Amino acid sequence: MSTVPPGVPGPEIASTALHLSEAAKVAQNISALLDDQHNRAKLDLQTAVEVIDTDRFPSLADLYSEKRTWFRMRGVVAVSADLKNSTGLSVRDRYAQTSARLYEAATGSAVRLMAKFEPQFIDIQGDGIFALFHGDLAFERAFCAGVTLKTFSERSLEPLIDELFTDGFPDTGFKVGIASGVLVAKKIGIRGTNEPVWAGKPVNYAVKCAGKADRHQLIVTSTVHDKLANNDYITHSCGCPNGTPVPVWTDTSVEKLGKHASCKLLRTKWCKEHGDEFCGAILDGKRRRDGVSQVAA
Ligand SMILES: [Zn+2]
Repeated sequence: MSTVPPGVPGPEIASTALHLSEAAKVAQNISALLDDQHNRAKLDLQTAVEVIDTDRFPSLADLYSEKRTWFRMRGVVAVSADLKNSTGLSVRDRYAQTSARLYEAATGSAVRLMAKFEPQFIDIQGDGIFALFHGDLAFERAFCAGVTLKTFSERSLEPLIDELFTDGFPDTGFKVGIASGVLVAKKIGIRGTNEPVWAGKPVNYAVKCAGKADRHQLIVTSTVHDKLANNDYITHSCGCPNGTPVPVWTDTSVEKLGKHASCKLLRTKWCKEHGDEFCGAILDGKRRRDGVSQVAA
């Protein structure tokens, strides 16, 4: 029998009651709450902000500001990756085990792999991942990160799922997109929970490119492709299996990008034999290879 006298709620009931009463208080004052925020939003829209152009990628500490101060960076390369068929992954009932294990294996691996290419920022979004590269060899690092992720997806994730999970498990794997351009950034929110906002086309476009890609594919905008197009290690295959390097990019269209819809698609992954050499060369800033002729555009 409980030692709590009748009529006196225990600790759990007390905290629930408190929670409900706070919610009830808000509900009674919802008009006042919305009026307050209306006025705040009106002020925000009418008041100038300071935009600081910077060549140096700001740290997260830099991004926190009580003031209306934003940083603007050019030449930011955004990589977005998400899981194919993730809406088909249920976390209800008995499926919670396999789906949660997949997130551990897929999202966890993706973060660890991408981090090796020293992005200036990396975060998990939903069950996918998003990284920003800036500064030295930003395009090359972003490209190598993207290819590494799609290689992992095809070489490990798909066969492991086939081997370890039942046939009914949805076909999945990473879809990768890359875009570049100007970003503005600031940490926004209430104290203690503020998160950086990265606003601008690169992030948006990278997400749309990833959305269009199939699993194990990488889609880049034409701007990103142009930046990589004079690098023989990126434009042509290693030559396996017959020794003849071939162009590896094909045209694709990402309709959601409107007039920027024409993009480039990469299906190939790091070669088991030459992957180390190629990734190393690209990250060393090398561009020319014997036996690959640059075709004039
Ligand atoms: Zn090879």
